[in-house]
Amino acid sequence: MIDQERLVNSFCELVRIDSPSDEEEEVAQHLMTRLEKLGLQVGRDPHGNVIASEPGDNPLLLSAHMDTVEPGRGIKPIIKGDRIVSDGTTILGGDCKAGVAAILEGLQSALEDGRGHRPVQVVFTREEEIGLVGASNLDFSLIKATEAVVFDGNGPVNRITGSSPTYMRFDIAVKGRAAHAGVEPEKGISAIRIATDIINQLPQGRLDDETTFNVGLISGGSVRNAVPAGTTFGGEFRSRSAETFDLLKMQLLSTIEKARERYREATIEEDLEVMFHMYTLDPEEPIVKLATRVMGEMGMTPEIRPSGGGTDGNVFRLNGINNVVVGMSTNEMHTVDEYVVIPDLVNTARFCQQVIAFGY
Ligand SMILES: [Zn+2]
Repeated sequence: MIDQERLVNSFCELVRIDSPSDEEEEVAQHLMTRLEKLGLQVGRDPHGNVIASEPGDNPLLLSAHMDTVEPGRGIKPIIKGDRIVSDGTTILGGDCKAGVAAILEGLQSALEDGRGHRPVQVVFTREEEIGLVGASNLDFSLIKATEAVVFDGNGPVNRITGSSPTYMRFDIAVKGRAAHAGVEPEKGISAIRIATDIINQLPQGRLDDETTFNVGLISGGSVRNAVPAGTTFGGEFRSRSAETFDLLKMQLLSTIEKARERYREATIEEDLEVMFHMYTLDPEEPIVKLATRVMGEMGMTPEIRPSGGGTDGNVFRLNGINNVVVGMSTNEMHTVDEYVVIPDLVNTARFCQQVIAFGY
């Protein structure tokens, strides 16, 4: 039986352990101990992802990430009615520790109930929030499962991520030439001027219902009274349409090319990288059918919705693991107003137990 009090305590204990991206060691140790207590064979891959397995064929992979975003240090979870909130100075860390807690409780409850279940593999990844880095570096030779449930969606467990965009990161470095701003500005080439010229010609914000574009970083210059020699800026765009994605890439590259022609003495270098690839969920896929069937048995209606974000599920798909991304009961993710709804958290754990017990 899912134990609500144990689950809430476990969640609160997890969020009290700081684990910003790239600083997951303490929470990883905590999780390894807990997984060992549940009788799983626990290990790490060279990147530090935690991988735990039960013996048996055709295991189901249960996955969540260990890292959280900033401000996420010294989190103090507070129970207010049927919600868990932070003290307002930090995020809560429900993304993704609500998912982690639900997996642990679902598994523990299944083991205690002893009715038998499909063997599981559990993967807790690092550095999801900084571009799915842990999943991208996961040692897939250690993963036997070909199907997964990823607990990393917004809202209650029955909210299924129906599609996810392709995501491009770009970083642009402009090199001009320094000169004294008051004495001989003619000799200079302003890198800030060139950078802003490029940025002004790029799109910004929501471009259509499946596409966004953002320049989120800029820095340059060194002193007020010199023509700035260097400027860098960075951004990202994402789309669930392959055509729009390709068009935006072309637009970015041609804008840079035009700036190169216009400012022949400057150097402009671009660095583009696709961080994750889009997918659209096929409702007929067996793992999707399994998830929706279990939800139905629990009296919930699956809500399949598009998402503007990526999860480890995007990377799993590229590596041949069909998966479904479900809600982990947290809301207002990545803000200090983040909250977890306790009855939703209980349902997420219950779903986890039922999905592994299905057919047993
Ligand atoms: Zn997440």
